[in-house]
Amino acid sequence: MIAVSSRSRETAKECSPQPALSLSKGRKPWEKWDTEKPQRGERLFLTRALQPLRCHNRISFYRGNMRSAFVIVLLSCCSVAVAQTFSPEVRKFIKVDAPVVALTHVRVIDGTGAAAREDQTIVLSKGKIESVSDASAANVPKDAQALDLHGYTVIPGLVGMHDHMFYPVGPGSFGEMAYSFPRLYLAAGVTTIRTTGSLEPYTDLEIRKAIDSGKMPGPKMRVTGPYLEGAGSWALQLHQLTGPEDATRTVNYWLDEGVNDFKAYMFITHDELAAAITAAHKRGAKVTGHLCTIGFREAAALGIDDLEHGLMVDSEFLPGKKPGECKDEEDPVLMAKLDINSGPVHDMILDLIARHVAMTSTLPVFEMGSFPGRPTLQPRVLDALSPDARNQLLTRRVQSSDSAAIQRRYGSETSPWPAAFKKEMEFEYAFSKAGGLLLAGLDPTGMGGVLAGFGDQREVELLVEAGFTPLEAIHIATANGAQYLGESDRIGTIAPGKQADLVLIKGDPSKKIEDIENVETVFKDGIGYDSAKLIEAVRGAVGTR
Ligand SMILES: [Zn+2]
Repeated sequence: MIAVSSRSRETAKECSPQPALSLSKGRKPWEKWDTEKPQRGERLFLTRALQPLRCHNRISFYRGNMRSAFVIVLLSCCSVAVAQTFSPEVRKFIKVDAPVVALTHVRVIDGTGAAAREDQTIVLSKGKIESVSDASAANVPKDAQALDLHGYTVIPGLVGMHDHMFYPVGPGSFGEMAYSFPRLYLAAGVTTIRTTGSLEPYTDLEIRKAIDSGKMPGPKMRVTGPYLEGAGSWALQLHQLTGPEDATRTVNYWLDEGVNDFKAYMFITHDELAAAITAAHKRGAKVTGHLCTIGFREAAALGIDDLEHGLMVDSEFLPGKKPGECKDEEDPVLMAKLDINSGPVHDMILDLIARHVAMTSTLPVFEMGSFPGRPTLQPRVLDALSPDARNQLLTRRVQSSDSAAIQRRYGSETSPWPAAFKKEMEFEYAFSKAGGLLLAGLDPTGMGGVLAGFGDQREVELLVEAGFTPLEAIHIATANGAQYLGESDRIGTIAPGKQADLVLIKGDPSKKIEDIENVETVFKDGIGYDSAKLIEAVRGAVGTR
């Protein structure tokens, strides 16, 4: 969560994580991301609400004698999930709903980073990808609903890793977008999100339930608990922890309520963060953080699993910073001068990678406001905003490029933010190329204008501007998120046996990344949703509901 009017910096900021692993003895450190199959004697955890397991929750019981019951529950959940019934509110957005679907003559970008494959046929059946093959050799079942997709590209459903359900509605305050955001995420091809910090955790849990039970259109959700914030916070909507015991109690309470992971925030203390990580890891949940009192290396040493926003918020390089102190968390002038390829920043990168700490890139929230007149405010963004939200955004855009204000704050008419933004891109590129797990999200906060779904597409475009190839950028925004969530065997790439979470795009994003905005149909568990209809349904709603 980045506060409004970020560049004029009168006020402060924000951001958040996900089910971690209790690593048992004998488990190799690199097995931290994907192979989540518990060893004998390991415990799993039960949350109150029984939901389709593979979607969101874990069941607590000792493995030995419960295995068969467990498998039966899992299978029944899956079969129920695939053959879901949809309410009229969902059905009105569905345009493909057949037991077997064949996407023919389509270009496939499978999310692994491999080159695009031309003229392929993908067969979907019972919510899964059944086969992917050359169209000329494809075996299309007679009862399949076949779509001729010359000129189209299919990519895996995006996995949004900093995808809140709220949006700025005024200085330092945020509103839950329970109606507009689920529809916009799905419309843009984001089929799985991690909320990475919740202001209304019960609302987020109920949204997930409504989506899973076919009552609301939207992505699969990993619900992050309420922010784990410390005393001294600027944000009225966040509980301020009163110590490590409170951190432990909060983590256990919300895991019992059904959340998947946690996000630490700017004013958390060292001991509170340590306690939260211990409590979460003990129950198989992960912790990420948008930190300020604590630097990246200190947090990594405590066992944090992910860090939000990148170098922009790593306070350990701020001159004169005292332990446990949260100074002005962003210093663009200093940031622009940091050397990424040697010295303390480079050492930090190597340390995080050695400790398997991931990094979540949120370039859209930093882009908005960093450059006068950039990004272009698209009509689809302005149309989705409520009149009040649109006015607020346009006002802040003018303010953030006000040279007098920049002069007052930085002593020069040239804003230091473009250089700092470029440095952030350089850092994320270096982190990934050095072997770090880079994740992608949008963070729909800051000065506004970064909207659910549209912002996820913008993140992919900005990763290309940062130096990644379009195929690499799509890989980061799909497979990497799935890997971090421990879902690589189900989502994140296009391969037989995986969930049919696919995005149908008019054009070729492997050549022109902006084509990623031309989404026509989004498949989730093999059901095809009409992107344009979903976007039309939220016209004028963002900022209000
Ligand atoms: Zn955020």
